[in-house]
Amino acid sequence: MQFIHCDICKKQIPNPISGRTIFYHREFALCEACKDDLEAAIKQTVRTKVPFDFSWYEKLRIDLLQEGAKKNKIVVKH
Ligand SMILES: [Zn+2]
Repeated sequence: MQFIHCDICKKQIPNPISGRTIFYHREFALCEACKDDLEAAIKQTVRTKVPFDFSWYEKLRIDLLQEGAKKNKIVVKH
């Protein structure tokens, strides 16, 4: 039996299925809720950043993941 914890909220992910209940970004494993937060946070920033460039996009994603891992939550601004 394998136990995987979300690297952001630290909750255990029951029955982890890659791409369905668990999502990998580099060394981070995310539960579905945190993956949704990550995507929402990325979308908010992408909207304000023009032109699109993959180099800052990748950095943004890693920054959000590292910050989220520290705070146990990916911050989505409203
Ligand atoms: Zn999580």
